[in-house]
Amino acid sequence: MPEKELLSLRDIYKSFGLNAVLKGISLELKEGEVLALIGGNGAGKSTLMKIIMGIYQHDSGEIYVRGEKVTSNKTSTALASGIYMVPQEPLLFPNMTVEENITIGFDRKKSELRRELLDLMKESGWKLELSRKASSLSIAEQQMVEILRGLLRQAKILILDEPTSALTFDEVESLFRSVNELRAKGIGIIYITHRLAEVFEIATDVAIMRDGIIPMRGRVEEFTREMLVKGLLPPDTQEKEQSLKEHLKKVEYENVEPIFELQNYSGYGFTGISLKVYPGEILGLAGVVGAGRTELATTVFGKDKVLGGKAILNGKDITGLSTKKVMEAGLNYVPEDRHYHGLFKISDVAANTSSAMLGEAPMGKFFLNAKEEHRMTQQYIDDFRIKVTGHSQTVGSLSGGNQQKVVIGRSLSTSPKLVILDEPTRGIDAAARGDVYSIIHELRNEGVSILLISSDMEEIVELSDRVMTVCQGRINGEFSGDDINQDNLMAASFGITGNAEVEA
Ligand code: ADP
Ligand code: MG
Repeated sequence: MPEKELLSLRDIYKSFGLNAVLKGISLELKEGEVLALIGGNGAGKSTLMKIIMGIYQHDSGEIYVRGEKVTSNKTSTALASGIYMVPQEPLLFPNMTVEENITIGFDRKKSELRRELLDLMKESGWKLELSRKASSLSIAEQQMVEILRGLLRQAKILILDEPTSALTFDEVESLFRSVNELRAKGIGIIYITHRLAEVFEIATDVAIMRDGIIPMRGRVEEFTREMLVKGLLPPDTQEKEQSLKEHLKKVEYENVEPIFELQNYSGYGFTGISLKVYPGEILGLAGVVGAGRTELATTVFGKDKVLGGKAILNGKDITGLSTKKVMEAGLNYVPEDRHYHGLFKISDVAANTSSAMLGEAPMGKFFLNAKEEHRMTQQYIDDFRIKVTGHSQTVGSLSGGNQQKVVIGRSLSTSPKLVILDEPTRGIDAAARGDVYSIIHELRNEGVSILLISSDMEEIVELSDRVMTVCQGRINGEFSGDDINQDNLMAASFGITGNAEVEA
């Protein structure tokens, strides 16, 4: 069966000011293909899609739809030629009904449209009350409305921009069924996702996008998960990952003094915690949300009251000290909710990377030397590949992954001995997660010890040299070497098992 070409992009370039976002993208989509487009935040995926939709204009390059060159790149032209994009956030009129939202803009009989719509819904097996107000719909239902909008317009090229990020498991299943049906009808689909598993579940083809280029593209059968992960990471990181694995093997604890120690430490939400973190070690604190780990961290960090026991950092008793003193002693904390605690959204990147250091400055000396600030900021931007157009880009306009890189970068400006990271990659996409992981590894390589709080067992397994599990405010397990696996950690986190004595 010869597949007809639906869409062809040739050498597309696009810059926003000085920020070159697309650097020569070429891509084809044929009938019945589901092309998964994967890449980190800021890779340029949405920009490329908006160009296809005529929302943005490309600087150079050519677009062909069914073999015909697009000369006027307007949204109305794109729609008329059968291209439809379901945006990352559905844009419905909240006070209008489902039916009104789907049929708006059609110059045709209402009854006719309704019949077609009902047929479409029957075909796809979607149940949705047409008279419901859009404001009462779940995200999944809103997406359904968006897709139906496209289908009613007889879209032949459907673009789904991260459609599953807000969906439940069942909703994802139902979306996948629809995608398969659309495919069978010869519709071509560009499917943007950051979930690698979905690529293998739903796509026929895959393209990796990184920094405005597509370094890899092919049939899904040609790829393994590892190849995709590797393709997402910049080349220099790939070598580092290897040297880190070697480093991991060398870590030995015997005859080494811990850099940080808790002795029978208690506070609100946790009791009798004893643990040691060694120099250059990543100690994972696994557990379920609410196990008491964040409370432990904020207490150590001088934000909450110590009820018993001792905390020792670098040989110094830091029990009950103020946050400022704790930081001076060499401990820093990157909290879970970076939007509220970690980052001043309005500040620019330079102010953010240095603000932890300002807290350190002697009384009266409120301003950093501008040159020094510039140097430090550049260093962080370089080290952590934070994607910005300049130091004064506001942090709020950075993508989630890049924001987290700024926050972790900031925690380093105090030259800590130990950094506590609380759920460092929650809500961050696969590629940025890889970046955050390499930052964490880099820190460890520089001799900074890390206490890693995470409810993501995969993450704990991937990063930790040693793991302790916390269940209901107490440590109930310790794992190292091959014992660090998801099954063991899950069982202990849920209190089903535990291999260590609970220390009272
Ligand atoms: P992705 O969808 O892969 O996460 P985007 O296409 O949204 O990536 O963004 C790519 C880059 O383009 C980012 O650096 C982003 O800041 C920039 N960008 C996107 N849209 C605009 C815009 N309208 N104005 C300026 N910069 C933009
Ligand atoms: Mg996007």
